[in-house]
Amino acid sequence: MKKVISIHRGPPAHWVGDGFHVRSLFSYDGQARSVSPFLLLDYGAPEEFAPSEQRRGVGEHPHRGFETVTIAYQGGVEHSDSAGNHGTIGPGDVQWMTAASGIVHEEWHEREFTRRGGTMEMAQLWVNLPAKHKMAAPAYQDIRSAQIPVVDVGTGSSVRVIAGEFRGAKGPARTFTPINVWDARLKAGGRVELDLPDGHTALLAVLRGKVSINGDESAGPAELAILERAGTRAVLEAGEDATVLVLNGEPIDEPVVGYGPFVMNTPDEIRQAFSDFHSGRLGQARA
Ligand code: MN
Repeated sequence: MKKVISIHRGPPAHWVGDGFHVRSLFSYDGQARSVSPFLLLDYGAPEEFAPSEQRRGVGEHPHRGFETVTIAYQGGVEHSDSAGNHGTIGPGDVQWMTAASGIVHEEWHEREFTRRGGTMEMAQLWVNLPAKHKMAAPAYQDIRSAQIPVVDVGTGSSVRVIAGEFRGAKGPARTFTPINVWDARLKAGGRVELDLPDGHTALLAVLRGKVSINGDESAGPAELAILERAGTRAVLEAGEDATVLVLNGEPIDEPVVGYGPFVMNTPDEIRQAFSDFHSGRLGQARA
């Protein structure tokens, strides 16, 4: 059994631009070693937005050195970047954006969603890249809900396999290092056994509801459980309907030096990233 090492409660929500009201369930700032290969998880709990003609979100900004993974639960999110990619994701869809050597992008509420108004619920995960891939070409994977295998685990509960493999079902996301990203939707009273690789980081991010882990510890909304790397098994039981992101991956044993939108290995590489951005070498969001 992978024992629970610690349970962390996210700080209060903050706004990213004027569209995303999120809590950071974890961040590489202070937790880099224990969450590697992941860097950060922001979760925007369900929030009502009134109809508007003004688009909401976050305008042009750069990234380098990692990947951003946006999961839409409710509402719609639109993206465009300097590599020429443009996409809109709706409930259940995932956008897997590899910034790597660098992109400039914009992230907005979908236009029609903004006009109509409605409930927004989303999460954004940052996945680190090993040094040898930090300067790879940017890429963009638009993953539709219908492409994501849903594994029925009984009592109305299920696990959506976004990346990696769960009980033989393979997730559609291509990743640089071995990673599992599972979106578990548990019904009250549901129970699921997770088979996790020995030696890999295992994080349980509770977005909604409450779960007990291995029959003893429990975690509620916006709480993160960090499990030990040794061992291969964890058991989740939902005390009420719950959404849990199971994040599991091979740790990247390299220094993590980040500043704002850049995550590299050395301070020099961060200075280089700022200089490349300011001189326009990362391009523009709407080229
Ligand atoms: Mn961004």
